[in-house]
Amino acid sequence: MVVEPKVKGFICTTAHPVGCERNVSGQIDYVKKNGAIEGPKKVLVIGASTGYGLASRITAAFGMGAATIGVYFDKEASGKRTATPGFYNTRTFDAKATEEGLYSKSINGDAFSVEIKEQVINTIKEDLGKVDMVVYSLASPRRTTADGTSYVSSLKTIGADFTQKNWNLKDNTVTDATLTSATEEEIANTVKVMGGEDWIDWMDALAKADVLEDNAITLAYSYIGPKLTYPIYHEGTIGRAKQHLADSAVAITEKMQDKGIKAYVSVNKALVTQASSAIPVVPLYLSVLYKVMKEKDIHEGCIEQMYRLFKDKVYGVEGIQVEEDGMLHVDDWEMREDVQREVMDIWEQINSDNLLELADTEGYWLDFYQMFGFKMDGVDYSVDVEV
Ligand code: NAD
Repeated sequence: MVVEPKVKGFICTTAHPVGCERNVSGQIDYVKKNGAIEGPKKVLVIGASTGYGLASRITAAFGMGAATIGVYFDKEASGKRTATPGFYNTRTFDAKATEEGLYSKSINGDAFSVEIKEQVINTIKEDLGKVDMVVYSLASPRRTTADGTSYVSSLKTIGADFTQKNWNLKDNTVTDATLTSATEEEIANTVKVMGGEDWIDWMDALAKADVLEDNAITLAYSYIGPKLTYPIYHEGTIGRAKQHLADSAVAITEKMQDKGIKAYVSVNKALVTQASSAIPVVPLYLSVLYKVMKEKDIHEGCIEQMYRLFKDKVYGVEGIQVEEDGMLHVDDWEMREDVQREVMDIWEQINSDNLLELADTEGYWLDFYQMFGFKMDGVDYSVDVEV
């Protein structure tokens, strides 16, 4: 069938298999072109099918020559419904890795569940023995814990409501959006879903099964951003969860010190992914940031970020490059003083009349469509494809 994008708000309900394949191939080419990284050879990526997790897996496999196991949660096609992008991405990744003689196994299921953890552990035991790197890159709106309780995360402020400029994606106007404040229960639930509890569960399960190499490294990803978005992100419900994630890194390192296993949080750049486009105010910030960073020729996507993280900050000649806050930072270019000053200057002025001129809305939408395999160069979208 001919697959067209069907965009509803911040989500696209279709994905193009050939476009997704092109997207993954492009990321693989980027890593190969930029050269090998001396690093681990057996890598588990949890949340491996899109965004930062996919880029981490591509960097591990095609940059470090690692065997990879990827865990993801995506839907296959059924009837006239296409699969979700992560399904096509993973299928492409598996095929390309196999072509290059790299071991690759992908497990589609709920990473929060005990069953998937067991399945992954059995796969490691049977195929790899142990792993020397674990990337934890889940972004999910809900989590069901082992006792069957379901928790839903919220994108809310803590304390007072917060009003800020917002880009209405439907009609390209800029108006105020107000985020309401969370209840104690909403805060706790967001921490349950997006905090570090499940990361710790994973590491405990892997350690207990003795499938972690000595001195293995585990990474999880976070975001801080500028003061402008603090009430929504850093100081909001999600920020509370990210604080828990950072505390969990310390807890994991401490409890696994006899094996020399270390956990780190990497603070990454704001980018258009399925997770970030759902957050109010963030799309406007992203499109202004893109404009400024592209003009300075320092714009990066997920693959550039993860390649730089692995090459310079984790497995570089100078070893692990943590900053004063104990975390790794590849948000360093986003947070550069000159970048943020220009973003804030634009932010002050931006409105419905000058939006298209002052923000890179085109770049935002291009990234958005490409996440679902649309608007990729060299793909003929008028032809029938097998979904
Ligand atoms: P994403 O939505 O692109 O990827 C999420 C991944 O998690 C997908 O592979 C999905 O299949 C998987 N997943 C979700 N629920 C699952 C489940 N129950 N079981 C198994 N797999 C599941 O998101 P992303 O933006 O790449 O986010 C990854 C991490 O990076 C998050 O911790 C996020 O907070 C962080 N981060 C994102 C940004 C950004 O701007 N996008 C910036 C900094 C940090």
